[in-house]
Amino acid sequence: MGCPFCTARPEAILYGDKLIRILIDSYPANRGHLLVVPRRHVESWEELSGEEKWALIKGMELAMEKLRAVLEPDGFNVGMNLGRAAGQTVPHIHLHVIPRWKGDSKNPRGGVRKAVLDLEDENLNMKEKWRKNRLSREEVELLRRAFWTNLSLLD
Ligand SMILES: [Zn+2]
Repeated sequence: MGCPFCTARPEAILYGDKLIRILIDSYPANRGHLLVVPRRHVESWEELSGEEKWALIKGMELAMEKLRAVLEPDGFNVGMNLGRAAGQTVPHIHLHVIPRWKGDSKNPRGGVRKAVLDLEDENLNMKEKWRKNRLSREEVELLRRAFWTNLSLLD
């Protein structure tokens, strides 16, 4: 089975340079959920070079900057699932950047801490969630344009 990140559809790619790509998550946990992914297919943090680790962090900043400009979120949840036990399903390391808005959750307190709760019920509604959180064509275009200013880095 091909790696979904190595074979990402061009429409899902918002940004790319020689070290990283920024992708639109296919099953967004919230509107504007993006992934920062190293170009190289490696599974774990330890396999990344120092340069790649830094590029992932810079990618996180860039993703937040563009999301702020286009979708005006009030906050972000940022995180990585490292290892199967931690919920990593794609063996190509990636960093989630999930925009948050006031009132998008009844009780946002705790943020990523809730990742260890049993959210099975929520996961059952993945399809509904995907429909609800999917960006409109216009929003995707606005985001794509926001990244254009950084395209000089594109290889
Ligand atoms: Zn891959």
